[in-house]
Amino acid sequence: MKKIMLFYPPGRFYQRGEDRSQGNVEQSTATSMRAPNDLGYAAATLQKEGFAVFLRDYQTERCAPDDLLADFDRENPDGIFVSITNSTIFNDLVLVRALKARKPELMVMLKGAIFFDPAPALLAQLDLADVTYLIGLESDFIVGRLAKAHFDDPAAVPAIRGILYRDGDGWAKTDFASWETDLDSLPFPDRSLIKNALYARPDTGEPQATIATSRGCPSACIFCMTPKISGKKLRLRSPENILAELADCYDNHGIRDFFFKSDTFTFDPAWTKAVCQAILDSPLGGKIRWVANSKVKPLDADTLVLMKKAGCWLVAFGYESGSPETLTRIHKNTTINDNIQATRWAKEAGLLTFGFFLIGLPWESREHLEATRRHIFELDNDFLELHIAIPYYGTRLNEIAREEGLLPGSVLGKDYFNAPTVGTATLSMEEIEAFRKKTLLDFHLRPSYIGRKLLQAGGNPKILANYARFGLRLLKNTLLPPKRPKGLTPDGTPPTVCILGAGSDIAQALARQFIAKDTANLVLASRDQERLHAAAREIAKDSDATVAVWSFDALDFASHATFFDALDPMPDVVVIAFGLLGDQKAGQSDFAAARTVIDTNFTAALSLLEIIADRFTRRGHGTIVGLSSPAGERGRKSNYIYGAAKAGLTVALAGLRHRLAGTGVEVLTVLPGWTKTRMTAAAPTPARLTATPDRVAADIHKAIHDKKSILYTPWFWRPIMTVVRALPEKLFVKTNL
Ligand code: SF4
Repeated sequence: MKKIMLFYPPGRFYQRGEDRSQGNVEQSTATSMRAPNDLGYAAATLQKEGFAVFLRDYQTERCAPDDLLADFDRENPDGIFVSITNSTIFNDLVLVRALKARKPELMVMLKGAIFFDPAPALLAQLDLADVTYLIGLESDFIVGRLAKAHFDDPAAVPAIRGILYRDGDGWAKTDFASWETDLDSLPFPDRSLIKNALYARPDTGEPQATIATSRGCPSACIFCMTPKISGKKLRLRSPENILAELADCYDNHGIRDFFFKSDTFTFDPAWTKAVCQAILDSPLGGKIRWVANSKVKPLDADTLVLMKKAGCWLVAFGYESGSPETLTRIHKNTTINDNIQATRWAKEAGLLTFGFFLIGLPWESREHLEATRRHIFELDNDFLELHIAIPYYGTRLNEIAREEGLLPGSVLGKDYFNAPTVGTATLSMEEIEAFRKKTLLDFHLRPSYIGRKLLQAGGNPKILANYARFGLRLLKNTLLPPKRPKGLTPDGTPPTVCILGAGSDIAQALARQFIAKDTANLVLASRDQERLHAAAREIAKDSDATVAVWSFDALDFASHATFFDALDPMPDVVVIAFGLLGDQKAGQSDFAAARTVIDTNFTAALSLLEIIADRFTRRGHGTIVGLSSPAGERGRKSNYIYGAAKAGLTVALAGLRHRLAGTGVEVLTVLPGWTKTRMTAAAPTPARLTATPDRVAADIHKAIHDKKSILYTPWFWRPIMTVVRALPEKLFVKTNL
C-alpha cells in the first residue's frame, strides 16, 4: 500500500487552511490556530482511494525541521502533500528540497491558493524543481484522485482539474474554470489523525473544530482572492450534512466549540436559518457553541437572533473601512450605515462582534485612515483586527498597486502585517504601520474596553488568563520594535544578490560565496557581457541557483533607475563592486581621464546609492555594500585621483549608513587592501600584504551576515591605515608610498 505524508511544515504560525487570507497568527490581535482541515480532508479522501497516510502539523506543534526529517525517514512515504501559504512558500520549498534529496523518487504535491491558475511570472520566482504537482483548486476534491492517477494511471492526470503538472521543462495547467458543487459528497476531515486539543477557542482554550459550511462568494472585493479561487457562486452544504459532522465531532472527539468556515455564513439567509434550526432541532441544540463570518449586507436581525439561539456567540464582520470612498472603490457593496446597523443588530441579539478592517489601499490618505479610526471607535466591537492591505497575485488590487508603482517587488513571502507595498500614493508604509499600532493600542487600552472584557470573562480564571495573554501579545507586537531578521531576507529564505561590476575577481569570488553559503540567486551586471556570461556559467556550475547576467554601464547615469527598477524580484543585497584604478600620471595632465576615474568610482556609485537606498527603505529591508579603498584614507602621490574618488565613496557610504539607521537597511563599507587581481596586476605589491580574492570575498560575505558597518580586509589593514593616517605630514611627504 502506498503511503502519503501530509503536513504543515515547521515555522511560524499561519492559517494554512484558510486559502483566502492565510493569516499570520502570532501578529494578530485575538486569533488562534485553526485545525488543519485541508490535511484532514486530504487524509480522508486518500484513505478512500486506498492509501495509507501520516498527518502532522509541525507548525502548531512547534516542531523543528529535524522532527519532520525524522518522521520522514521513519514513515518512508511514497508521496507528500504540503499545505503552503503566500508568506511561507520559500521556507516550505527549502524543506521540500531536503525531503526530495533523501528520496529522489518522492511524489510531491503542494497545495495553496497561490497556485490557482498562476501567472508564469509568479512561478518564475519559485524554485519548483523538486515539485511534482501544484494544486490550486480545492484540494480536498483533488488529492485522492491525483495520487491514484499518479501511481496507477498517469495518463489520467491531465483530466484532473485545478492542478499544474510537469510537462517537459515547464508546467501544464488543467481546468481552473469550474468548481465541484456537491459539497456533501466529501468525507469529513479525518479528525482521528488531528491533535484536536491544539486548536483552541482563543478565550476559553477549549478545543475548537473548523467546519467548512459553504464555499464561494458572490461579492467582488478587489483585495480578496475568494471570488477567484472559490468562485462567485455560493455553494452550500446541506444542513443535514453539516449537522452530521458536528455530531461526529461532539460524539467521537468530545468537541463542543466550532468555527463555521464560510466566506460569509449569512449570505443566503434561508440556508443560514435552516442550519440554525437543524442544530436547534437536534440533540446538539443548546450543547454547542460556534462562531461565524458574516458580511454586513445582506443580513437581517432575525437571522442573527436565530444564530444566537443555535449556539453562536461571536460573529466576525469584514467592515474593511470607515471611508465611504474606500468602501466604493474596493467594491464591497456596503455602506457605513450597513456597518452600523449590522453591529447594532448583532449586539441586540446578544452576540459578541469581531471587526476586521483594512488600511493602506493605494488611494488612501491620512483622511481615509482617520475615517476608519473614527468608525472603529463608533462600532466599538468586542474584538478588533486592523490589516494592512496585501495585493495578492490574481486580485485587482495587485494590478492597481503595480500600475501605480506601489509594488516594487514580489508579494510572495509577505502577509497582512508585513505588506510588500511601499505605502499608498500619499502615505509611507512607516506611517501606515504607525497608524495601525496607535489605533490598536488606543482601542484596547480604553478603561471602558478593559472593564467590558473583565465583565465578559465573568470571573472565569481561564478566560481572564487568555485575555491577559492576548493583551500581552498585543503590547509586544505594537510596542516592541520589529525583530530584525537574522538572515539577508526577512523570512530567512535564500536572498537575491545583485553585484554591479561583476567582472572583477573579487566580485566573482563573492558571487561564489553567496552561492555556496546562502544558495542565493544572483544578478551579475557589468559592461563586458561576453566575459561575464562565461563567468556566470562557471559560478552556477554544480548549483541549483539562478545566475542572471545583466548589461550595466556605470557611467550611463541616466539608466541607473531604470536598470534597478527592472530587477524583479528586487534584490536583498546589492554590491557596488565596480571601480577604475586609472592612470595617475595621465590624469594629472588629462582631466578627461581623471574625470573618468572620479565618475566611475564616485559619481556613478553615489547615483546608485541614492536609488537603492530609496527602494530599500520603502520596502523596509536590504543590504548595500560599497567596495571602497584604503587609498581614500590619505592622499598619496601615486594614486590621489583614484584615492580622492574612493574617499568620496567612503564618506557617502558613512553618511548613508547614518541616514538609514533603524530603517532595516544595512550599509557596509568595504576597504580591501592589496589584492591579487587583474586590475592590480600591473603594479606588483608585497606578497605578505597581498590577499587573494577568495580571502577578501570570504571576509566580505561574513561581514554582510554579521551586519558590520566597516570592513578592512584582511584585518591587518585597519592598524596599518591607523598608522598611515597618523603619520605627521612632514614625515609622510618624505615617504615613497
Ligand atoms: S465579501 Fe468580499 S472579502 Fe468577503 S469573502 Fe466575499 S469577496 Fe471576499
